[in-house]
Amino acid sequence: MEYYTNRMSKLIESLQGLPGVGAKTAQRLAFHIIGMPEEKVTMMAESMIDARKNVCYCKSCQTLTDGELCPICSSEKRNKRTIMVVETVRDMVAYEKTDSYKGVYHVLHGAISPMVGIGPNDIRIKELITRLNGDVDEVIIATNSNVEGESTAIYISKLIKTLGVKVTRIASGVPVGGDLEYIDEITLMRALEGRKEL
Ligand code: ZN
Repeated sequence: MEYYTNRMSKLIESLQGLPGVGAKTAQRLAFHIIGMPEEKVTMMAESMIDARKNVCYCKSCQTLTDGELCPICSSEKRNKRTIMVVETVRDMVAYEKTDSYKGVYHVLHGAISPMVGIGPNDIRIKELITRLNGDVDEVIIATNSNVEGESTAIYISKLIKTLGVKVTRIASGVPVGGDLEYIDEITLMRALEGRKEL
């Protein structure tokens, strides 16, 4: 027996395609959407379409941006000679919130994880290497301190060292296995200040 109309089922099904949304949550969200004022739903749907169409990757640091270069890469105030390598845009945001880092970033969009079939070519390592053309003094590796983050750090540091660029790793003050975005700003600042050369 069909419990919902076709349109309702289609909505529930598409919501279920989102990460972390199971069948129950999808149903709850679908009912909520149906109860919302129509113009609010239109605004929400339009912002999704607009973001999907127009948000792209910064051609320098690979973060998400509306233009060619993100605001950080195009800022005169940022030191382009220091690059901090992070796994995700959310990690970058976490460091930005500390307000203490004045360099630029490089977003890998993941970490090396052979267990789930993610190799070095699946994340943005190539793009990082092409940035190291002589104008960079230090690369700070701020990947997570779990197995994937550590193996990514080792892989990248080996590559970069052959280019003669200084490579550092944030201090192990960051709890093992802890996602950077859930760590408070003071811990992140200490991790950054206590970084060690690899
Ligand atoms: Zn950028």
